[in-house]
Amino acid sequence: MNTARLLQWYDQNARDLPWRVSPADIRLGKKPDPYRVWLSEIMLQQTTVGVVKNYYIRFLQYWPNVHKLAAAPLEEVLKLWAGLGYYARATNLHACANVVSTQFDGIFPTDNLSLQQLPGIGPYTGAAISAICFDQKVAVVDGNVERVSARLTALQIPPREVKKEICKFIQNHVPTRAGDFAQAIMDLGATVCTPGIPQCGICPLKSGCAGFASGNPATFPIRAKKKKRPHRYGHAFVVQRRGEQVFLQKRGSKGLLAKMSEVPNSSWDEKQSKVIFPTSGNWTAAGTVVHIFTHFRLELEVWYLMDCDGMPDHVGWWVAPQSLEGEALPSLFKKVIAKVISF
Ligand code: SF4
Repeated sequence: MNTARLLQWYDQNARDLPWRVSPADIRLGKKPDPYRVWLSEIMLQQTTVGVVKNYYIRFLQYWPNVHKLAAAPLEEVLKLWAGLGYYARATNLHACANVVSTQFDGIFPTDNLSLQQLPGIGPYTGAAISAICFDQKVAVVDGNVERVSARLTALQIPPREVKKEICKFIQNHVPTRAGDFAQAIMDLGATVCTPGIPQCGICPLKSGCAGFASGNPATFPIRAKKKKRPHRYGHAFVVQRRGEQVFLQKRGSKGLLAKMSEVPNSSWDEKQSKVIFPTSGNWTAAGTVVHIFTHFRLELEVWYLMDCDGMPDHVGWWVAPQSLEGEALPSLFKKVIAKVISF
């Protein structure tokens, strides 16, 4: 891989991202802020730059540094995170902020291994922070980098099966500008060597690319056979008081969507169970919601009770429809409520 040419390309084509220090500013001596890079990297796991930008900007408005985030109640963090998915990340984010604030005086460790001791920071995020913020010579391999590597080497195996080898391949090419290199190859994957048809004509790595030389670079990476996603089924209950406020409750502190808000719902099973309503009343069927989690597909039958006096056997709270957006509601339960109420 011609890293000099890649860095030259990055100098002229780096994406303008709110958490990034441009290569021009790096040359002027400006340093990336580890708090911002960490926040963006946690948010970017499993999602895209386009989705993350607004969340990132709002988080920074509320909590401009790690001490402020650590001092915030977890409920507030979960509320601002609602809609980003993978909610354990938000809980870990808050826990990590606490550790950095109280045990490290607000200063993130610089090396990958120390970073990985912190809650929610795995090998990828540790590598990304240490390379981008501290120019540590470590391989930073995300989905974009895997694809670019697979094409550069015309890899005949699905990248997920040879992660270590890809890491080694990247590691062998990390130059002195380790942070810019990590971001350059990610940018190349996001803008030139894209998942569909790569734009090899404008690629700085074309001359050494085995995928390009093959004449059919889009056939790489070789895809792994997809496992069939299991299906689960359940019921969800939208309860309104006086045709207005909606009843919400908090999920348990462990497991999927832990500590987030929800409407009452049944267990999620391999077969649909008989409906057991959470309170008596004149229930109406409101249709079905399908939601795809990473490991299973969930189908919920939605039930609606418009005029409820109270939910005596449930601990929760009532929320006006116009305030639902401010609740820590995962997308699944937003979809469930939207079956009945516009908000
Ligand atoms: Fe990707 Fe084409 Fe560049 Fe190779 S030459 S890295 S396939 S864009």
